[in-house]
Amino acid sequence: AIQRSAFFEAIRKHDPSSTAVVNYDSDVAFSYGSLLRDVSRAKEKLLEETGKDESSIAGERIAFMVENGYDYVVTLLAALASNAIAVPLAPSFPAGELRYILDHSGALALLSSAKYAKQAQEVLKEGLENTLVFVQLEKLEKGSDETFDVELTGMTESAAGGMMLFTSGTTARPKGVMLSDATLTAQAHSLLEAWEYSTSDRLLHVLPLHHIHGTVNALLTPLLAGSSIEFMFPFNVDNVWKRFAAPFLESNGTNGAANGTNKDPRPPITFFTVVPTIWARMLQTFPSLSPELQKATKQAISREHLRLNISGSAALPKPTRDGWTELSAGNVLLERYGMTEVGMALSCGLHDVDRIDGSVGWPLPSVQARLVETDDATGAQAEIPLGAEADPATGKERQGEIQLRGPTIFKEYWRNAAATAKEFTPDGWFKTGDIAVRRAVEGSGQGKSGPWARGPAYFIQGRRSADIIKTGGEKVSALEIEREILALPAVSECAVVGLPSEAWGQKVAAVVVLSEEGKTAGKGGKPFGAMDLRRALKDKLVAYKIPQDLAVVEAIKRNAMGKVNKKELVPAVFGDVE
Ligand code: ATP
Ligand code: MG
Repeated sequence: AIQRSAFFEAIRKHDPSSTAVVNYDSDVAFSYGSLLRDVSRAKEKLLEETGKDESSIAGERIAFMVENGYDYVVTLLAALASNAIAVPLAPSFPAGELRYILDHSGALALLSSAKYAKQAQEVLKEGLENTLVFVQLEKLEKGSDETFDVELTGMTESAAGGMMLFTSGTTARPKGVMLSDATLTAQAHSLLEAWEYSTSDRLLHVLPLHHIHGTVNALLTPLLAGSSIEFMFPFNVDNVWKRFAAPFLESNGTNGAANGTNKDPRPPITFFTVVPTIWARMLQTFPSLSPELQKATKQAISREHLRLNISGSAALPKPTRDGWTELSAGNVLLERYGMTEVGMALSCGLHDVDRIDGSVGWPLPSVQARLVETDDATGAQAEIPLGAEADPATGKERQGEIQLRGPTIFKEYWRNAAATAKEFTPDGWFKTGDIAVRRAVEGSGQGKSGPWARGPAYFIQGRRSADIIKTGGEKVSALEIEREILALPAVSECAVVGLPSEAWGQKVAAVVVLSEEGKTAGKGGKPFGAMDLRRALKDKLVAYKIPQDLAVVEAIKRNAMGKVNKKELVPAVFGDVE
């Protein structure tokens, strides 16, 4: 028998007239009542279009291509409510990548909004192994009113449904991650407890929705909590500033979004979770705002109004963090760590003292975390016990791989048993591939309602495969070096990599983009160069961590989530080094 859904039961309990979703560029506020109604309708239409019934659609993959906004939410929830597996497709992906996902997932149907209908049909034209049903979204939305009370059964503990999200492909070809209903619900509950989402939260949503960050942190969890989500699509930094400022402008009413009468009152944004590159973009553009906008945004981003300003998906550079602390008069960014396979795993706490510089905090509620050290000589692996953060003999910090266990962790890569087997230990810990150290700090993982974690906090050192450089027998963290280089006024962007070296095994090399100041910061007004870098780092880093090579480039390529693919970067900058 199909159980009633805990997720939809929670949504059903929210005040049906309260705002669930707003599209930034329209003045219509969609209530929780209308959301549930439209999801019921869409679910019924989905069954009709695919010729399935409640039980036969369970576990089927439903792919969809829809722009961020209310229609997206309806489509996703309709798939979840059908106990199907929702497979969001990023329209920005090249056709070949989209075809791969459709084939690999074995999708039953591809749903598309009018905006992407042509692109979707193009993708379907060429050799797909499976044939699938193509549905244009309008068909899903024209349900009859009698379907209002259709019971929503998705997101159950025992259901076959959930979501399939693909990893970013930073280190290898993207892998399809199967996130069951139970896993997604556990992830949302864990975040809800730690970050205390509430009905008074208003989120501004500017992230891609085919990643865990945009989906779990900024969509499913706020829906579970009854918060309001405002979608800005596409992301535009000027519009973000305008939206923050709107409630605080003297001439309130024109907020850059709606024109004239606002049905939606556009309250202050209380919750904004984005990637480091977006926080940096906002800092860069603030000085160009008019004095009136500057005044209003300063109010908007103070702790009094913006209670949560979160950064994640890639390491937060210190100048960005410090810049925000200054601009917001002390509203420190909160950093957290997560990945497609596990949702969010580690997070700093809500209070200022719990937003630790350079740290991603503590294991979130219901997440078990450990660090596992590898002995270089023997290859033997052992857990670093809590309290044994440093080697007693040398005093050196011990670094280990973050391994995770618990109800928030995925069970398998889609149709890739080999990868699944490789990434789990025999006793069920997921090997993240990320290396960290723990340090005793003041503070703990806690919010208003008390602590959910105590003890030493985690500091990410980088990916085992790309950021841990082995030079002259030492294991060096690229992230640590990047942090020091980014603190130099001459540099605006940086990626540190390991290059093969006969003498050292690997040598440390830096790729940088110079700031305006950096272009004349070298000796005799020349651009900042390798010698200048060495001099600048001499007192900050031990000799073997100081880059031996420096490449100055115009730009460092990053994906939408601000991640650098170092495997691609090295040959692009240094040529064939192998
Ligand atoms: P692939 O697995 O395909 O190579 P990916 O690991 O980049 O791609 P995601 O699951 O989107 O795909 O990203 C998760 C990774 O992002 C983590 O493993 C970690 O390396 C990085 N990450 C996330 N948050 C942080 C953070 N706060 N600081 C540093 N790195 C982070
Ligand atoms: Mg990964």
